[in-house]
Amino acid sequence: MSLFLTTISVEEAVKTARNLAGPLPTEDIPLSSVYGRVLGADISADIDIPGFNRSSVDGYAVRSRDTAGTSESLPALLRLSGRVAMGERGDRNLSPDTCIYVPTGGAVPDGADAVVMMEYTESIGEDILVKRPPAPGENVVMRGEDFRAGEGILSRGTVLSSREIAALAAAGRTSVPVITRPRIGVISTGNELIPVENIPVGNQVRDINSWMCGAFLASVGCIPEYYGIIRDDRAMLRDVLKKALSACDAVLISGGSSKDDRDMTADLIRESGEVLVHGITISPGKPTIIGTVDRIPVIGLPGHPASAFVVLLVIARPLLLRMTGQDVQEFLTKNLVLGENIPSAKGREDYVRVRFRGGKVYPEFGKSGLVNTLIRSDGLVRIPSGIEGLEEGDTVEVILW
Ligand code: AMP
Ligand code: MG
Repeated sequence: MSLFLTTISVEEAVKTARNLAGPLPTEDIPLSSVYGRVLGADISADIDIPGFNRSSVDGYAVRSRDTAGTSESLPALLRLSGRVAMGERGDRNLSPDTCIYVPTGGAVPDGADAVVMMEYTESIGEDILVKRPPAPGENVVMRGEDFRAGEGILSRGTVLSSREIAALAAAGRTSVPVITRPRIGVISTGNELIPVENIPVGNQVRDINSWMCGAFLASVGCIPEYYGIIRDDRAMLRDVLKKALSACDAVLISGGSSKDDRDMTADLIRESGEVLVHGITISPGKPTIIGTVDRIPVIGLPGHPASAFVVLLVIARPLLLRMTGQDVQEFLTKNLVLGENIPSAKGREDYVRVRFRGGKVYPEFGKSGLVNTLIRSDGLVRIPSGIEGLEEGDTVEVILW
């Protein structure tokens, strides 16, 4: 008989977890602090960008038809009628058979429809010889060509990198609506756990999961709130869970998620809330709990760090991304040829750590209690539950770290 009363598929578990909470409310923050944040509203251009026809080179603004058919041996002769200064209001007008000097980024005068690069001209007194005819529109960025006033620039749910911040600056946004970062409680349980700074004696182990969870939370745009190491003591765990629930938007508890006598996470959730899932057909990571207390999601992660990591990535991540309001949930993947067979039992979804070598990908087998496979691998290969393993030569999709 299974250790678990019911195990559900990864797909169902992800759906259940994702439904537990939606995006947090938005807040306005200064443009200088938006890096890495998730945009909370659609942003459109307040004005035409650029607001004037703008030269993209140093050269002479011309009417292209005045230079049609010219060449090195038969240049056009245009009278130089002025010079545009940077930042000046673009209210000049170009008369036929004349040209005006425009620096890169300067305003192209009305009447001109192209700019000839300096390199293709020669200056003779007050006249300019044009040796190569520009096509209409050449070297001119038209008013509103980047964005039209009112045009949508960025949509809610976008993670703001330097590229999007460039667009926000162009649109004049000094204050930006972003989705509030979820605060996620991190609790490690186990009588054997000791703080990282201590030297283990006997069967003690250092608390790895708090720090792994915290870093993972930061990587998906959440704020970790650390509640430390809690002994396998019902009253102590109840207390700390209550504290975390009152201050956080979700809680991660690692260890004690199985069905041993000391495993009390599920019972505690059930005391004041609901356990929706206890056991998932995933390997590693079967002893996973998904529950809620007072509508706050509580995820019970397996104690083994490598298992906990897979559950964070596969089960917790979709919920966390949803809470942060992020649009893109797909993993970054790469298709590679498998260099070695990977066996797998039917009826469970396997996530095998793999490593790149010589253009192929190889499994990094190791017991789930080991941390070394996490750092010696480049990603994960998913083996769906209906498949009995993968064979050398198969092309597999690798989820990149
Ligand atoms: P459990 O899920 O509580 O039965 O723990 C399974 C295994 O994971 C045990 O060997 C624990 O010592 C180990 N473990 C549990 N929590 C942590 C943690 N926070 N850091 C490192 N190892 C842990
Ligand atoms: Mg334990």
